[in-house]
Amino acid sequence: MERMKALVQYAPYDSRYEEVEKPTAGPGEIVLKVKGCGICAGDLKAYHGGIRIWGTCEEDRYIEAPVTGGHEFFGEVTQIGEGVDSCEIGDLLAVEQIVPCGECGFCREGKYWMCEGSAVYGFKQHAAGGFAEYVKVHKNSIIHKIPEAFTPEQAVLIEPLACGMHAVELAGIRHSDVVVIAGLGAIGTAMVNMAKLSLPAMVIGLDVKEHRLMLGKEYGADAAFNPAADNIDEEIRKMTKGKGCDVYIEASGSPASVKQGLRLLRNHGRYVQMGVFAEEVSADWNVIGDGKELTILGSHLSALTFPAVIEGIRTGLLKTDGLISHIFKLADWQQAFEAAEKDPLAMKVMLEP
Ligand SMILES: [Zn+2]
Ligand SMILES: [Zn+2]
Repeated sequence: MERMKALVQYAPYDSRYEEVEKPTAGPGEIVLKVKGCGICAGDLKAYHGGIRIWGTCEEDRYIEAPVTGGHEFFGEVTQIGEGVDSCEIGDLLAVEQIVPCGECGFCREGKYWMCEGSAVYGFKQHAAGGFAEYVKVHKNSIIHKIPEAFTPEQAVLIEPLACGMHAVELAGIRHSDVVVIAGLGAIGTAMVNMAKLSLPAMVIGLDVKEHRLMLGKEYGADAAFNPAADNIDEEIRKMTKGKGCDVYIEASGSPASVKQGLRLLRNHGRYVQMGVFAEEVSADWNVIGDGKELTILGSHLSALTFPAVIEGIRTGLLKTDGLISHIFKLADWQQAFEAAEKDPLAMKVMLEP
């Protein structure tokens, strides 16, 4: 049996870079030589024992440990199982993060991203992730060919940008909208770009890190503010003639950003929740109903947006410069996780086997 290196999560704070069995492709399956894998906020939360992932007991545990992490991967096809005709050896593939069960009501309706099985690469035994030299693509997986001209950075950004695009689509942006995007990480910054492509009245970016505000403006934000330093309530009131913003896309995963959004939105505004929180959030729900009659929308994974994102990057409509801030070798995963969490200049951090 051939072996390979992988980063396996055993328990909170117990991830091990070790030798595991190299996968082989059974019927319907594909094996990829991993070329790169992004570190998601979810991977960091998994490392720190996030309750959504590890639960409070065996019964409500999402992760099936020990399992190789990583769902933002791309790679080169090295082995094709019986019956696969969707790709050839040598193709570069992006793989959607969810492995649909194919049988639940959502899968049958084509809404596979809401699959009740909710199996995401890097968390389930049948979906070992891309923090490894090779990854086995499940037979139910949704794959997309990556154009040859893509850089590794662009290829790794396909999954996170696809998630961002889903959130932007849910916002239903119109020409007259003032759109606020809270949290200018790689996804939030890309969402500024995507929101601008809908030609709204204005896109405003918010983040507590100054370099992200600058990048946000390079990505098309008409204004960018730091909630920790600027009086954003005042600024946004000024920019909207006292009305408030029409759309608030929450992409920071910070509880304070939720209250902020409810405050900044105008009556009948639309709130889209895209970020993931490490803790429970409390807010005054009266604002939603009795106060402003808001529409609250949830955004989960990437729906059907992979092809559009690939095309957007290919044509240059979707920019990617500066969204990957660090590249580390998989063996140096500890440094990479630390950079993703603590480096003030971190955007998306990517690992290469
Ligand atoms: Zn992710
Ligand atoms: Zn399903």
